[in-house]
Amino acid sequence: MAKPPIPSPTSRKLCLQDLALTGKKVLVRVDFNVPLNKDGSISDDTRLKESLPSIQHILKAGASAILMSHLGRPKGKDLKFSLKPCAEALEKLLGQSVQMAEDCVGEAVEKMASGLTAGQVLLLENLRFHPAEENPESDPSFAKQLASFGDIYINDAFAADHRSHSSTTKVAAFFPGKAAAGFLLQKEIQFLNVLVTNPKRPFYALIGGSKISTKMGVLKALIPKVDGIFIGGGMAYTLFAAQGFKIGDSIHEEDQIPTALHFMQECASKKVPVWLPKDIVIADAFNNDAHSQTIEPSKGIPEGWQGMDIGALTLKEWSDALQNAGTVFWNGPPGVFEMPQFAKGTEAIAKILSLLHATTVVGGGDSVAAVNHLHLASKFSHVSTGGGASLEYIELGHLPGIDALSEHAQINLIQKG
Ligand code: AMP
Repeated sequence: MAKPPIPSPTSRKLCLQDLALTGKKVLVRVDFNVPLNKDGSISDDTRLKESLPSIQHILKAGASAILMSHLGRPKGKDLKFSLKPCAEALEKLLGQSVQMAEDCVGEAVEKMASGLTAGQVLLLENLRFHPAEENPESDPSFAKQLASFGDIYINDAFAADHRSHSSTTKVAAFFPGKAAAGFLLQKEIQFLNVLVTNPKRPFYALIGGSKISTKMGVLKALIPKVDGIFIGGGMAYTLFAAQGFKIGDSIHEEDQIPTALHFMQECASKKVPVWLPKDIVIADAFNNDAHSQTIEPSKGIPEGWQGMDIGALTLKEWSDALQNAGTVFWNGPPGVFEMPQFAKGTEAIAKILSLLHATTVVGGGDSVAAVNHLHLASKFSHVSTGGGASLEYIELGHLPGIDALSEHAQINLIQKG
């Protein structure tokens, strides 16, 4: 029997536009986890720009905004991961000053937050300077302090919503009837819901990236949903090994071979075609200057060589097969795209998908970076800000950060007007 469609979580959840904001202090969990250049400057400000609609709505309504985010994976208070560059960039994008706090909790921050007046913006320092952000149980008072800054809580950090962290699930719990979804979160879920519930057929998934173990959950979850799965990147070599091909020094996970075999059998029994690369570009070292050649995987990769990218035959075959697509979801690069010699497959996939007359959704830092690098973002139906979050949403149909928000029924506590 066909499964009933999963109702949109944000359609059941309180949303930013439902709330009366005038005169309020609005605590917003944004996702300013932007990629940085070696000199510490921001290399891609997509996530900042995507958070603007919610922030501008709050300010226009006569409220103040207290923004909080993590950036990178700092070990303790490492100022290399300060959000200060984000405050400066946000000032330019908003055209107004943004106050930057030295920390995200503590007396000085409390003072800054309580002194905010309508229309002002305060950005708290990196939440991950405190271990309690990722490990809420180690210090429940951390979430409580963050929550104390706001009258209303908005979650607009889709990319962080697959984790139950202090600033997502735990802070939300302090705002019964007042924890709502921001505009970016709503947009992300609307697009992903189309994939999960009612994709235009044929619906194809194109999955790449390094390790199959991190994506096996979503691969399995995709079997009953899609009309075909294209698999490239390092992940493919575990599948080649499972078929008994010699894979030389290619990245692979020996312990995943039984799971990979089971996945292939499951796809065959459900008649879901799996498109593995027909030809691959192999190299004699993991660097851009390595010698390379293109071979068929079934011929076997010699010792000392490793698979780095998909080849031209594969691109032609995949491009032909994708032409009739109604919907495509892409996550993960099909090659080591950081090295120009092995970026051709990833760039070609971005171009092929950008030209399709289909709903195209791309998620995941690397595939999104490739799309942005080629200035193709506007040619995709949706470029998700969350890689892990979009995979987990497709796999499970919900995310802890969204589950923690107030139900729509509670809206009358604080309804407009
Ligand atoms: P993920 O975070 O799992 O989506 O993986 C992204 C990473 O996969 C990128 O850094 C790519 O360089 C890497 N990758 C893609 N193809 C390969 C490959 N054939 N061998 C090693 N790494 C790869």
